[in-house]
Amino acid sequence: MNNIRFQALQAVLTRGIPEVKFPSQKISDFFGANVFDKKKMKEYLSTEAYQGIINSIEKGEPIPRDMAEQVATAMKSWAMGKGATHYTHWFQPLTGSTAEKHDAFFEPTADGGAIERFSGDALAQQEPDASSFPSGGIRNTFEARGYTAWDPSSPAFIMARTLCIPTVFVSYTGEALDYKVPLLKALNVLDKAAVDVCHYFDKSVEKVNASLGIEQEYFLVDIALFNARPDLHLTGRTLFGHMSAKNQQLEDHYFGAIPERVYAFMQDMETEALLLGIPLKTRHNEVAPSQFECAPIYEEINLAIDHNQLLMDLMDRVAKRHNFKVLLHEKPYAGINGSGKHNNWSMITNTGKNLLSPGKTPKNNLMFLTFFVNTIRAVYEHADLLRASIASVNNDHRLGANEAPPAIISIFLGTQLSDVLDEIETSRISKKIKEDALLWQGIPKIPQILKDNTDRNRTSPFAFTGNKFELRAVGSSANSASPMTILNLIVADQLKKFKYDVDKLIKKGEKKDVALLIVIKKYIKESKNIRFEGNGYSEQWEIEAAERGLANIKTTPKALDALLSDKTDFLFSDTGVFTKREAHARHEILLDSFYKKLQIEARVIGELGINVIIPAALSYQSRLIENVKGLKDIGLDKTTYEAQLDIITKIAEHVNAIKSNIETMVNARKKANTIEDIRDKAIEYDEKVKPFFLPIRYHVDKLEQLVDDSLWPLPKFRELLFIK
Ligand code: ADP
Ligand code: MG
Repeated sequence: MNNIRFQALQAVLTRGIPEVKFPSQKISDFFGANVFDKKKMKEYLSTEAYQGIINSIEKGEPIPRDMAEQVATAMKSWAMGKGATHYTHWFQPLTGSTAEKHDAFFEPTADGGAIERFSGDALAQQEPDASSFPSGGIRNTFEARGYTAWDPSSPAFIMARTLCIPTVFVSYTGEALDYKVPLLKALNVLDKAAVDVCHYFDKSVEKVNASLGIEQEYFLVDIALFNARPDLHLTGRTLFGHMSAKNQQLEDHYFGAIPERVYAFMQDMETEALLLGIPLKTRHNEVAPSQFECAPIYEEINLAIDHNQLLMDLMDRVAKRHNFKVLLHEKPYAGINGSGKHNNWSMITNTGKNLLSPGKTPKNNLMFLTFFVNTIRAVYEHADLLRASIASVNNDHRLGANEAPPAIISIFLGTQLSDVLDEIETSRISKKIKEDALLWQGIPKIPQILKDNTDRNRTSPFAFTGNKFELRAVGSSANSASPMTILNLIVADQLKKFKYDVDKLIKKGEKKDVALLIVIKKYIKESKNIRFEGNGYSEQWEIEAAERGLANIKTTPKALDALLSDKTDFLFSDTGVFTKREAHARHEILLDSFYKKLQIEARVIGELGINVIIPAALSYQSRLIENVKGLKDIGLDKTTYEAQLDIITKIAEHVNAIKSNIETMVNARKKANTIEDIRDKAIEYDEKVKPFFLPIRYHVDKLEQLVDDSLWPLPKFRELLFIK
C-alpha cells in the first residue's frame, strides 16, 4: 500500500495520547506566570517607573527614555530568570497573522567575552526588515522601513524562551501598517466621546473602555491526514470530497463527550494559555463533527485581541505535540457548518459600570438606553462599513450560505427590548411629560434580567445578549481588530453626534433629560429598519431586507467598496483613525489577498485534478477493462459485465468533464491575470474563475463514489471528520 492516504490512516491507528503536565492543581497558582504584568512590574520596578507605566496605560502618556531603560532592565532580568534567551517585538501586520523578529539578549564584548543586554531603545523601538509585509503601496518595498514601537498597554510575555513585546507597526512616514494602530486610535475616540455622554448622567466617569470576549471556533484533524490532503495543506480547506454518510445530521456531536485525544489537546492548550494570562474559561464541542469552541472571559479590548491572536498561534503550536492540525479556516468542509469568531462587545466605565447593562432606576435606564440606541443607530448608519470589515475570501463561504449570519447586517434585540423601543417611539413627549415628576413615565420599565438573553437568535449577525452586543459574522481566522476598530469608531462618531444634538436642544431651553429622550426617540425612529427579530436565513428576509433598503453584498470585492465611499471618507478623516492613504492601502491589500487566495485554490484544483484524481480514476478504469476482457475471453456474454461497462463509461465522462473544465478555468485565470486594476481583477477572479470550482468538484466527488476505495488517493471526509 504505497497510497499516502493509507499510510496516513495507519499512522492514525497507532496514535498515543501525550501526557499533559499541569504546573499546579490550582489555576490561580500559575495564571499569568509567563506575563510581565502589573504585579511583576511593581516587584521589579522603582515606584516612579511603575507609576510611569501605569500612567501610560491609563492615560496614554509617553514613557520617558530613562524610564524605558529601567523597564527594559527589569524585563530582561525577569525574563532571563524564566529561561528566556531572546526578545522580539510582536506585532500584527496586515497579513492576518502575527510577526516576530528575534534577537538574542547576548552581546559580545571588546575583551572577547559576552554580556546579556537589553536597552530601553531596543524595548521602545525596532526596525524589522519589513519589506515583504503588505503595505498597499504606502511603503515602497525597496525602502523597507517600517518601525515597531512598544505598546505598554499590553503586557510583555514569554513564549518559547523568547520575551515577546507587543508593539505597533508603522511606516517610516508614520502610517499604520498593522491592525493595532487604528484600533488604539478608535478606542481613544470612543473613550472621549463616551465619557462626554456619560457626563449627562454621572460626572465621576473619567474613562470608558470597550470590553471584548471572543468565542473561537475551530476544527481539529489528525496531522497525517492533513498532510495527505494537499488542498488542506495549501489553502486551509478541502477543495474536493464527497460528504460523509454520517455528518452533522444527528446533531450528536454538540452534546457528545469530547474525544479523549481532543480533551488532552484542550487541557494542554488551556494550560499554556493560562500561563500567558489568557483567561480561557469555556470549552465545548460545536455543531459539526470535529468542530470545537473555546472562549476566554472578556477583557479590555486591545488586550482581548492580542490574546486572541496569541491564542490562535498557541493552538497551532500545542496541536503539533498532539499530532493534530488546527483548522481556523472559515469553511474547511463544504456541506457542514463553518467556523466563526463571535465578538461580544460592550463599554465599561472606570467606575465599573457596564454601559450596556440596564439599571434599577429609570435614570439608569435612560443612561442604558442612550448607549444602546446610539449603538443601534451607528450600526444602521454604517452597516456597509461593518460588512466590509468582516469581508474575506474565506468568509464569503459563510455569509449568505445559510449557516452563518447572512451578508445583510441587521440587529436582533429580543422581544422585551424591541417592545421598550417601540413604546418610546410611539410615546408622546408632551408638555405634561416634560414636567419633572412625569418625565420618567416616558421611559418604559426595563426588567433587570432580560429573558431574551437566552432566546438566542443564531441567525442574526449583531445580537443584543442581555448586557453586550455580539457580532457573530466575524470569520474564525480573522483578526478581530478589523471589525472592532470599525465598531468602536462608528459608535464613537455616533455618540459625538448625539451629544451635539442633545446640547442643541438644551441650548434651546429643553431640560436635559427631556432633550436626551427626544433625541433617543428620534434615533429609534431613524434606525428602525435595521432591527430584525426573525429568521435571518430565510429567503423571505432577503426580500424584506431589499424592500427595507438594507444592503446584501455577498462577495468581498464589492463589499470592500464601502472602505472608500464618501461617507466613510468623511468618518475616517473626521475622527482621524485612517488617513485617505491608509484607507486606500488597506483596500488594495484586501483585494490583493482576495484574488491571490482564489488563484492558489484554482491552481491546487488544477494540479490535484490532473495529477492525482484523473490518474486514480484511470487505473481503476483500466482494471475494469481488463476484467471485461477476461470475462469476454472465457466466453461470457454482455449481461455479466454490464455493470463494469457502465462504470467504465461513467468514469470516462467524469474524467472528460474534469479535464475540460480545468482547461477552461486555466484560460479564465490567464485572462484575469492580465487585468491591471486590482478591483477589476478581484471581481474577475470571483466571477469568472471561481465558478469553475464547484463543477470540477462535482465530477471529482462523483469519481470518489465510483472508484475502488483502496485506490482513492485523498483521505475521505469520514476519515477527516471522525477523530479516533
Ligand atoms: P453566551 O454563551 O450566551 O454567548 P457567555 O456568557 O458565555 O455568553 O459569554 C460569551 C462571551 O462574552 C465570553 O467571552 C464572556 O466573557 C463575554 N462577555 C460577557 N459579558 C461581557 C461584556 N460586558 N462585554 C464583553 N464581553 C462580555
Ligand atoms: Mg455567544
